[in-house]
Amino acid sequence: MNARAVEQLKMEEELRDAMQNHELELRYQPQIDISSGQVVSMEALVRWKHPVRGMVSPLDFIPVAESTGQIIELGDWVLTEVARHCLYWDSLGLPPFRVCVNISPLQFNQDDLPGRISRFLEHTKMDAKRLELELTESAIMTDAQTNIEKLAQLKALGLELAVDDFGTGYSSLSYLKRFPIDTLKIDQSFVGDLNTPDGAAIVDAIIALSKTLNLRVIAEGIENPAQLAYLVNRGCDLLQGYYFSQPIYPEDVPAMLRQDFNQDLASAVKIA
Ligand code: C2E
Ligand code: MG
Ligand code: MG
Repeated sequence: MNARAVEQLKMEEELRDAMQNHELELRYQPQIDISSGQVVSMEALVRWKHPVRGMVSPLDFIPVAESTGQIIELGDWVLTEVARHCLYWDSLGLPPFRVCVNISPLQFNQDDLPGRISRFLEHTKMDAKRLELELTESAIMTDAQTNIEKLAQLKALGLELAVDDFGTGYSSLSYLKRFPIDTLKIDQSFVGDLNTPDGAAIVDAIIALSKTLNLRVIAEGIENPAQLAYLVNRGCDLLQGYYFSQPIYPEDVPAMLRQDFNQDLASAVKIA
């Protein structure tokens, strides 16, 4: 316990320096539209290039940032960086595509999140339609009644809302229907379990639920042709995972947008 507390304290200090010393960077992972085979959106994922430890996984430092409150500053930095990258891509003449940004529970629970996002959009002149916020199931379901209002205020700004890691928390179906959300993101653990009857049944259920509720559904963590084949044949709208691409540098986004994955999708249909 003590050692862990010391480690956490150290990381907290190092993370403070990291934000000042520009050790954080963003990568973007493409999301492929099943009907066109094209990349239609990208998820922004933060990376920490530690001067001594090398790459530190967000799975290690996001929870620390969340527990110390540093996630607020970090989250603001991520949004600002996304806006900067969008301007850069615009300057290259790329067609605008959607960028998905992860919002942690603490960020979501800030009282004035809609106001902050609104000021961010005004300040950066970023088109709200380009932005999708990925919220966690537990964040929006805790105190769901109050959150309906907050989600509605966010939606009123013109952006899109996704529920990340869907299926790992617990959702009240009646609230899910009342929330103004656009996308359900099937957690990658279920995609990883697609070769088991339970995994496949859960994925089927989430896709069916999305269709019934008129929501876009995306699967993440697709690594192999068998998983792709299953999801394509079930009509999962969007696809994301190492099978298509690892998260990439912003400079590599233009080439990624030119990729055509139709061949992969066509062979996937044949496999299943
Ligand atoms: P997430 O939002 O569910 O992101 C998906 C994670 O799965 C990413 O890990 C991504 O690199 C990884 N991934 C993508 N395709 C595959 C695949 O085919 N196989 C496997 N095994 N993994 C795949 P990453 O980048 O390490 O991020 C982990 C988590 O850290 C994210 O989960 C998110 O919860 C959090 N995170 C990352 N960036 C941010 C950020 O900017 N803000 C906040 N609040 N959280 C972030
Ligand atoms: Mg995410
Ligand atoms: Mg996820």
